[in-house]
Amino acid sequence: MKYEELIKSDERLHVNGKDVFTSEPDQDIFEMIGDNHVATSTDTPMREDAFDKSDKEKMELIEGHFEKIMQTLGLDLTDDSLKGTPHRVAKMFVKEIFSGLNPQNMPRISVFDNKFQYKEMLVEKDISMNSTCEHHFLPIYGKAHVAYISSGKVIGLSKINRIVDHFARRPQVQERLTVQIAEELKRALNTEDVAVVIDAEHMCVSCRGIQDKSSSTLTASYSGKFKEVATKEEFLKYI
Ligand SMILES: [Zn+2]
Repeated sequence: MKYEELIKSDERLHVNGKDVFTSEPDQDIFEMIGDNHVATSTDTPMREDAFDKSDKEKMELIEGHFEKIMQTLGLDLTDDSLKGTPHRVAKMFVKEIFSGLNPQNMPRISVFDNKFQYKEMLVEKDISMNSTCEHHFLPIYGKAHVAYISSGKVIGLSKINRIVDHFARRPQVQERLTVQIAEELKRALNTEDVAVVIDAEHMCVSCRGIQDKSSSTLTASYSGKFKEVATKEEFLKYI
């Protein structure tokens, strides 16, 4: 089945609570999914045994695998500059740029009663965001803008940054990142009235493939009152 037909057919199957395509796409289709940056699920696709290994075990394995990649490329790992690279990459993957895969690293979110009876929207804009494209493992970087209208609970402002950062520290597609941030805020604040906009550049677009250096990608999630035109416009005016 061609990719376009796959999209049109909307034949989906629910596996472990995730939407997956029923057809078994061949390698060409997987490449098209990657090149078109299509998300196939709103949950990060994880294996059942994702956390059977400790961070230390994962780093040791990744270090070995990355060493092989560098050797295959013909690099001389006895060179002083290169010899620590497999270890640095392994540590960076597990402890930094993909640390958001581990639910144990989810920031502790405390919410407070809205004592001021503040009833307008709260907007936090220009939150710096660094993520990684799951199709090419190249950086996605930009700004996230988040808003909510309190239903009685408020959240510490820095916690919004921490939620954005947590979900960004995964191999991602921008659409999924946007939805995951919105869903977590809705859960924490017990409200549907949440908006998230992400404006980001993808290095897999600027440095390879089409090599467009000037385009950026905007994604948005509007729920509850933010689906109303006036509320959405107010939010967009602020950001
Ligand atoms: Zn990419």
